Amino acid sequence: NLDFKFIKENVELVATNCKNRFSTADPRLVAALYDDFVALKTQVDSLRAERNENSNAMKGKLDADKRALLIARGQELKDQLAAVEERLTRAEATLQREGQRVPNLTHPDVPLGGEEAAAVLREVGAQRQFSFTPKDHVTLAEALDLVDFESAAEVSGQKFYYLRNAGALLELALVNYAFNKVVSRGFTPIMTPDLVKASVLEKCGFQPRGAGTQIYAVEGSPLCLTGTAEVPLGGIYMDRILTEDQLPIRMAAFGHCFRTEAGAAGMAGKGLYRVHQFSKVEMFVLSTPAQSEALHQELIDIEAGMFEELGLHFKVLDMPSGDLGAPAYRKFDVEAWMPGLQRYGEISSASNCTDYQSRRLNIRYRPAGGKDVGGADAAATASSGSKKAGKKASSGGSGGKTEFVHTLNATACAVPRMIVAILENFQQEDGSVVVPLPLRPYLGGMEVIHPPA
Ligand code: AMP
Repeated sequence: NLDFKFIKENVELVATNCKNRFSTADPRLVAALYDDFVALKTQVDSLRAERNENSNAMKGKLDADKRALLIARGQELKDQLAAVEERLTRAEATLQREGQRVPNLTHPDVPLGGEEAAAVLREVGAQRQFSFTPKDHVTLAEALDLVDFESAAEVSGQKFYYLRNAGALLELALVNYAFNKVVSRGFTPIMTPDLVKASVLEKCGFQPRGAGTQIYAVEGSPLCLTGTAEVPLGGIYMDRILTEDQLPIRMAAFGHCFRTEAGAAGMAGKGLYRVHQFSKVEMFVLSTPAQSEALHQELIDIEAGMFEELGLHFKVLDMPSGDLGAPAYRKFDVEAWMPGLQRYGEISSASNCTDYQSRRLNIRYRPAGGKDVGGADAAATASSGSKKAGKKASSGGSGGKTEFVHTLNATACAVPRMIVAILENFQQEDGSVVVPLPLRPYLGGMEVIHPPA
C-alpha cells in the first residue's frame, strides 16, 4: 500500500508514477474515496460523542418528560449511527480495494519504459565459445538421464519434471551451496511452509484470486500454494513492532514455488526453464528506511558473487518502471547466457519493496531515541501490535513513534534455471557436463556428469 493520505496530497505525482508503471490504478479515485472515508469517519465520531453525552445525561435524577425526550433522542442517534457506520464500512472496503491497486513509488534512477528499457548495470564474463554446436538443456538432460518429463506429464501434467540421478543431486548441491553462502553472510537459515493463507499473500502484494492469478488456491480452504518463500518470510513479523537495534533482519529460506504461469508463452516454455513447481533459496530482509538501499546492493552483490564463482556469464539489469510489479521500488534482475537456448535468461531477481509490503503486513519499528509522542500513531501501533507483544518485545517501551520497516527480497538460487545455465554452459562435445568447482564438494567430488552406467 501507499499511504492514502500521501496519495491524496500528491495525487499528480502518484498518477504519473502509475502511468510510468503501466498500472491501471486510479489515484484520483483513491483520493476521492479517501475524502469520503474521512468525512464518514468524522460523522461517526461525532455521532458517537453525542450518543455518549446523551446517555450520560440520563444518569441521575430526571423528570419523566425529560427522560422520555432523552430516550427518544438516544434511539434516533443509535439508528443514525448504525446507518453511517454501515456506509463507513463500505467506504473503507472500496478505499482499500482501489488503494491496494496503486503500485509503490519508483526509485528516481529506474529507467522509464517497458522490458526493452532495462539498463545494464554490470556484465560479468563473456559468452562461452564452443568448437561444436551447443545443445539445449533438454537434449543434454535427457541423454544424461537427469530428467523425466514423460512420467511427470502423466503424473502431474505439462511443465512438471522429475530430476533423476545427478540431476536430483545437483538440486541438493545447489541448495546447499546457496544456503552455505547466505548463512556465511549472516542470514538466518529457515525452512518455511509452502502453504500460506490468501490474506498473507495479499499483504505481500500478490493477488491470490481473479483472472491471471499466478497462485494455486486449495479448494475449500483459506490456503494457497505459495509462489515464493518471500510470503512466509514476510509473514513472520506481521503485526510486530521491532526496535531499531534489531534491524536489519536477514533471513534465507528454502521453499518450493508453485506458479500457474497463466499467460506465459513462448519458446522458453520448453524443459526446465518455466515450470509449475520449483525449489528456491530466497533471501528476505527487514530494515530501516535508511538501510534499504545499501542492503539492496548487498543482495545483488551476494547473487552476483555466487554466479561469478560458478563461472556463469551474466548481466545485472536495473529493471524499468513498466516491469517492476506493484510492490518493488527498484528491482535488479540477473540474466545469464544460455548457449543452448541462444539467449540470456533471467536467473534471479532482487527487489527493494520499501514500505509497500510492511504497511499491509503492519511491520513497524521504533527508531532509537524516538520520543514518546502518544497520539494516533502510537495508539494504532499499540492496538495492532499487541498480538505478539512480549515475544521478542520492543525494548523501547510501550510509547514512542513508530515507522514502517522496509522489506527486500532476492533469489539466492532458483534451482531449475541454474540447472539450465550449468548444463548448457559447461557441456562438452560428447554430451557430458563439467561440474562447476564450487559445487563439487556437494556432489561427493563429482567432476563430470556422464550418463549413468
Ligand atoms: P520471482 O520470485 O518471480 O522474482 O522469481 C525468482 C526467480 O525464480 C526468477 O529469477 C527465475 O530465475 C525463477 N523462476 C521464476 N518463475 C519460474 C518458473 N516458472 N520456472 C522456473 N523458474 C522460475
